[in-house]
Parts: sequence; structure tokens; C-alpha cells
Amino acid sequence: MTAASSGSGLGPDLRDVRSAQLFDRASKVIPGGVNSPVRAFGSVGGAPRFIEKASGCTLTDVDGNDYIDLVCSWGPMILGHAHPAVVEAVQKAATGGLSFGAPTEGEIALAEEIVSRVAPVEQVRLVNSGTEATMSAVRLARGFTGRSKIVKFSGCYHGHVDALLADAGSGLATFGLPTSPGVTGAQAEDTIVVPYNDLEAVRAAFAANPGEIACVITEAAAGNMGAVAPLPGFNEGLRALTTEHGALLIMDEVMTGFRVSRSGWYGRDGVAGDLYTFGKVMSGGLPAAAFGGRADVMAKLAPNGPVYQAGTLSGNPVAVAAGLANLQAADDAVYAALERNAQTLGTILGDALTAEGVPHRVQYAGTLVSVFFTENPVTNYAEAKAADTWRFPDFFHALLARGIYAPPSAFEAWFVSSALDDDAFAKIAAAAPHAAKAAAAAVSH
Ligand code: PLP
Repeated sequence: MTAASSGSGLGPDLRDVRSAQLFDRASKVIPGGVNSPVRAFGSVGGAPRFIEKASGCTLTDVDGNDYIDLVCSWGPMILGHAHPAVVEAVQKAATGGLSFGAPTEGEIALAEEIVSRVAPVEQVRLVNSGTEATMSAVRLARGFTGRSKIVKFSGCYHGHVDALLADAGSGLATFGLPTSPGVTGAQAEDTIVVPYNDLEAVRAAFAANPGEIACVITEAAAGNMGAVAPLPGFNEGLRALTTEHGALLIMDEVMTGFRVSRSGWYGRDGVAGDLYTFGKVMSGGLPAAAFGGRADVMAKLAPNGPVYQAGTLSGNPVAVAAGLANLQAADDAVYAALERNAQTLGTILGDALTAEGVPHRVQYAGTLVSVFFTENPVTNYAEAKAADTWRFPDFFHALLARGIYAPPSAFEAWFVSSALDDDAFAKIAAAAPHAAKAAAAAVSH
């Protein structure tokens, strides 16, 4: 299957022969041909592009096509690809040895950089993925409070942790139902799932489970149902309710951390969580992530405390060097560029859709951008799902065919880098009217 077979067609200069061949080959030995599901283009159709290399804001695939990258490896690449400072740091670290299973000074420097940027974080533990970070933070919250239940929000994604792969049934505050075979009812039943941006539902959950809720985990600003910022007062309300009921507030900043400001979403709304999870930008593009927070809570972690958590490759010297270099290069000018680029992208897409009369909303959560095919504000997952998501595949493929690499799902945020330049935006602006026309002509199946 190729992009052409999705019905959208390729632009005159693009080929996808080798990507399609590699997808066939990959599908024989890798389930679905990919190592993370969204990469398979399942919700937009067509063969995923196999990437050969990337530099700045440009991805180059194995057929030699160039794309302006609006995915940025799902977040890490705020400086663009192969940034010289990050590459140099990685090369230097790799030359000195790849892994020691013993502490290194670089781990301290990365922990200090994180602690210096996010005031409520007094200590951090480095791990290898965002999933590991949220899994560990939830375990720590349970160990610290001696309680079992957790509250999460429908449409917020925290990695593929069993207890967090739960979604709500109908009703306001329902006990979690496993959203994946392999997650048992028991693993999901301590998870209470409530609608995002609904403080009343959180209040009701606490009222129905007195003294039983260990933590509320939330994306500090939601990016996994598209960009859905917390409504004014929502994060503050979570802070107040968790404090009132002796539960911890876990701010998942894996996506927003060090992207939406130098201090993440905390830098925008100043609402302090008890625990934080980070990944993506602080990894520089290598496998690294972290969880951290109040020193008295972190003190419960092994080896000081009883809550066990460990990792053979945690704090890997090469990953740490990449993450530190990424953060150190992300100065005020980079954050100003991200703000500007997010607004420019949203404006180009919004104007093109308006010109074609396509009902839409461009939403921002800081520098995360989303296009929803609805005129109604999207404040939670039910509203995100109610949009005309059937327009998205044609919109996506019309962009892809013109060398613009958008996230291949209607429910993902678009990620900008500081490397997007005037030429990149000219290419996006040239493609957008075609994509808007494709969205206008799309039919609901
Ligand atoms: N938390 C959030 C908010 C995320 O967006 C993600 C991944 O996209 C994760 C956790 C999981 O991170 P990882 O994919 O590194 O396991």
C-alpha cells in the first residue's frame, strides 16, 4: 500500500517506492512494521515514510524526498534535527564509553538543570522513557500515601503503563475499564477516569472514595487528544482538591516540559505539582526521561526509602549528554522562536481552512498546536472525538504530498522547532490551500 493508494496522490516530485518496500519488509519481522503504533499511518492510510536522515527542520526519507518536519520526533527536537551542539555532546560522550552502570557527573548536571528550571522539583530520578517516569511516579505516590486509587483524565495519555491504559465508561466518574487486552480488570480497577477540565468530577471522585485516592495524574496541559489547554482555574482546582484530601498531584510534563517554556507548563501557570514527569526535550532525542518533585516524597525511593525503582541503563551517559546539551542550547531566543513559529503555523493552517469554508478551530496549548475540524471549543476528549476527524486523512496526505510532515493522527498535537525558517513557512503556506481544499472535499464514511 502506498500513499497514492490512499486516494490523495503524491505531489509531482515525490516518490514513495522504497518506503513502501521497506514497510512490506518491516511488516514481516516487526508487528505492524513499526516500533510504536502511530508511526504506521493507521489512521490516515498509506505507507509510513522511512526516514534516512534529518537536519534542521527537514526530514529526508529513503526515496530522497524532503519534508518540513512538524512532528519533531513527537517533541524532543525543539532545536531541529542534528543540532551541532547536541551531536557534538553525543559524540564526545560516546567516545568515552557507552554505559557504566555506575554514577557519572553528567547525571548530576542534568538533574541540576531540571531542578533549576522547575521550582517545585527538588530532586529527580532519571529513567529511560516517559512511560517509566509515570509508572514510577504513580508507584511512588501510592507508596508515599499508602493508598491505592488514582485519578486520571479521559484523553490524557501517560505512556503505556497498565494502570494508566484505562478509559472511562459512561457517566461522570467511572472506574477504569482496560483499554487494551492484556491489562487486567484488577490493574485498571484502582484507576478512576474522569473528563478533562471537569473539577466537579474530580470532587465527586474524592467524595466517593474518602481516604483512598493516592494521586491525581494530569497532563499539565493536554497534548494527546490534540492541544487542549487546561481551562482557567482547572490546574489550580486540582492543586486545591489534592491538598484538601491528602493526595499527591502528579503533573505529567513529558510533552510540555521544557517545550512550552523553559520551565514547561509550570512556567506558564505556576501551579505546583507534588511530582513531575519529564521526557522528550530533556532527552535530546535519545532514550532518557525523569520523574521528580518534593524532596520528602522522593526520599521514599530506594535506596533511601522502601519504594523500589531501578534501571540498568538509567542515567545513560550518552543520553544524559544529549539531554543536557539540548536543554543548555534552549535559551530565551529558542523559546521566543517556538512561540512565534507555533502562532505562524496555526495562522497559516487556520487561514487556509477559513478560505475554503472548512469548519475548524486552531487550538494552542502554549507552543503545541492542533487543528480540530469543528467550530466548537474543544475542552475534553468527548469534544475532540465529536469533531469531523474524517477530514483529517485527506488534509494530512495533501500536506505530505507537498513535503509537509504533519502528525499522522487527528488526535496528536503538532510540534514546531526553532529551526523552522522563512523558506519552511513558505513551503507550508504553499501547501496549506491544497490541504484545505482536500479537507473541504473529504467525505465522511
Ligand atoms: N506522558 C505524556 C504526556 C506523553 O505525551 C507521553 C508520550 O507521548 C508519555 C507520557 C510516554 O512517554 P514515552 O513515549 O517516552 O514512554
